[in-house]
Amino acid sequence: MILFSSCTKVILIRNPQTSQPAKNVVLMIGDGMGLSHITAGMYNNSNFTALQQFPIVGLIKTHAADDLVTDSAAGATAFACGVKTYNGAIAMNMQGQPVRTIMEEAVNKGYRSGLVVTCSVVHATPACFVAHNEFRNNYEEIASDFIRSGLNFFVGGGKKYFDRRNDSRNLVEVMKKSGIQIGTYLEEDLESIKITSEKFGYFTSDDHPLPALQGRTFLPKASIIGINHLSKPGANGFFMMIEGAQIDWGGHGNNSNYIIAEFLDFDKAIHEVLNWALEDKNTLVIVTADHETGGFALNPGSTMQRINGGFTTTQHTASMVPVFAFGPGSELFSGIYDNTEIYQKMKQALGWSKSN
Ligand code: MG
Ligand code: ZN
Repeated sequence: MILFSSCTKVILIRNPQTSQPAKNVVLMIGDGMGLSHITAGMYNNSNFTALQQFPIVGLIKTHAADDLVTDSAAGATAFACGVKTYNGAIAMNMQGQPVRTIMEEAVNKGYRSGLVVTCSVVHATPACFVAHNEFRNNYEEIASDFIRSGLNFFVGGGKKYFDRRNDSRNLVEVMKKSGIQIGTYLEEDLESIKITSEKFGYFTSDDHPLPALQGRTFLPKASIIGINHLSKPGANGFFMMIEGAQIDWGGHGNNSNYIIAEFLDFDKAIHEVLNWALEDKNTLVIVTADHETGGFALNPGSTMQRINGGFTTTQHTASMVPVFAFGPGSELFSGIYDNTEIYQKMKQALGWSKSN
């Protein structure tokens, strides 16, 4: 009896032959995505993940400044700003001062910028790229920063933080008045909208989008719609962050099926982005995680079809997490290093001078 088929369809892709800096960066964050989350999803997907095609693999240390176990805010601040900070901080340092994010730097340098996430757009991970706040739960304040961010594209949930606020401002209307094209799930399907403005946003839901197991499918499609919009001629390049936000929630819930479904949805988005980058040859694609969630393991008795998941906690853990990279500058991402170096390495790959 053959228990485990070996996977034959995998081709490790080669990096493009170029010494040029990357023109574009797509940073893909699987929230809470440790090695076991990837492993469980891979086996459950006939032993395949798009991640095994990446030529460069590394590991990052994820600890926060004030706790060995990071949260998603400190984790994303490390990626976005290159600083270690306290848990809960949205692009702020230990002194409580805002730190310029790589996305803000990109906008200043004439790049386009974009976000696609499977949580509310004001949740910790996306917030750390476009907002500054002392505490991650100040969603309405984060929404106020969000509309000033200069983003060219965003897709995610959280409409209520923009149009049903305690200060009764309607930021959806403010965005529309400032020339940002806004679509919502109430009016139109994302795919049927014709994007006619340089700046476009789409709300998938009032609060968080549904889990993939309950029918959410937009992440892979929205990622490509976003890349097509951001890569149009007329800018120096683009910086995009794509988040598989709910892998983490499956970990918190100690729910293997939730983890697997969310990972496979994220994996589809990775597959789409990687295929686009293979054609483009000027785009650095990085896939990583902010931390591991659940102390998840594939326990004895697991088969490819049925993972017997074990968990040590309903919280995050301090395990190192993997980094996968493809494209110009990707070789910088091999080895074991700190999560803040993701920021430094992205800037190096883009050819931005250190003084910036
Ligand atoms: Mg997150
Ligand atoms: Zn979490």
